[in-house]
Amino acid sequence: MKLKRNKKRYRYASGRRRLYTRRFMIVSICAILAAAIVSAVIFIGSQLVPRVPVASEGPSQSSQSSASSEKPSSEDSSQPSSESSESQEESSSQPSSEPSSSQPEVSVADDAPDYQKKYPDLYVTDRPKMHVLDDDAKVVYLTFDDGPSDLTAPLLDVLKKYNAKATFFDCCQSDYQEEFAPLMKRCVDEGHTVAVHTYSHQFKEVYQSVEAYLDDFYKMYKLIEETTGQKPANFFRFPGGSKNAYNGDVYQDIIKEMTRRGFIYYDWDGDSGDAAGGNVSGATIYANTMDAIHKGCNIILMHNIFDKKATLEQVGKIIKTAQKEGYEFKALDGTLDPSHGYLMTTKEFVSAAMDSQFIQLSDWRMEKEKAKGN
Ligand SMILES: [Zn+2]
Repeated sequence: MKLKRNKKRYRYASGRRRLYTRRFMIVSICAILAAAIVSAVIFIGSQLVPRVPVASEGPSQSSQSSASSEKPSSEDSSQPSSESSESQEESSSQPSSEPSSSQPEVSVADDAPDYQKKYPDLYVTDRPKMHVLDDDAKVVYLTFDDGPSDLTAPLLDVLKKYNAKATFFDCCQSDYQEEFAPLMKRCVDEGHTVAVHTYSHQFKEVYQSVEAYLDDFYKMYKLIEETTGQKPANFFRFPGGSKNAYNGDVYQDIIKEMTRRGFIYYDWDGDSGDAAGGNVSGATIYANTMDAIHKGCNIILMHNIFDKKATLEQVGKIIKTAQKEGYEFKALDGTLDPSHGYLMTTKEFVSAAMDSQFIQLSDWRMEKEKAKGN
């Protein structure tokens, strides 16, 4: 009897245990399902929330607000976003027309020239304030135009040997040059600056119109970006300099458009003279350059292509001599005020830059402009 009762109790107990186990499993499954549903809802919700645009670190509006305030704030109806209508209502506190986070907060008036509406990613919105060098500063910026080429790798070796940095204003004007384009990455990796010179270097094409200039510029800008994996410099150099025999009709409009987009440009105050003719001797290039450096010039024009072997052969000697005299060789980084003696078209640059919502000129330039106004 006792055994039977025990068996019965045992069966009853194990039955209850099974019941509890089953209940426990059901509760567990429900909990897991609930957690999965909650996670899914959170994930879908996060995908629906519109992306907050990256705030651009543009200059303070204090000195330039009068120029840019006429334009409507962020109503860029020329670049509509097909997917924005729904999310706009949900995000009343967000700017209304930011199609993607890479697009800067720039408005283009409806009646603006068509070229202003092209290349919405071609803006420099984070330009720092510019400065000028002291008159006795022993700083030299060697600038090499027209590369890359078969002379680029040996030039980089020389620069490395003397721990000197330089600026490359590059182009891609032939199949030959395309072959050397990967060297732009080596330039950047070794601490030099790579900036746009032009893609085709065909003056008649590039200076046909502002639009033609922009098309060419953008091609080179993208090539540098793709090759180096980095944004190209926030400045450039005009082929032939900012004012030349081919761009008289259009250079002022190009300056206005590029500065509107936040780009500045550099000509030079010292010329090595290596482009003066077919066969400039190494001795002349050396003498021209040292002379310019001793006169206090900072931005030196040189070339790095085809027949400019004589330049390459002099660079080491120039750097070595000047370094012994206390000069430092640096790469331009876009913070040097180009209107401090490095431009052929200072007046045009300054007035365009003062209208740009992205460019802050140096205190030196602003004081000069203020003095002129009085
Ligand atoms: Zn050139």
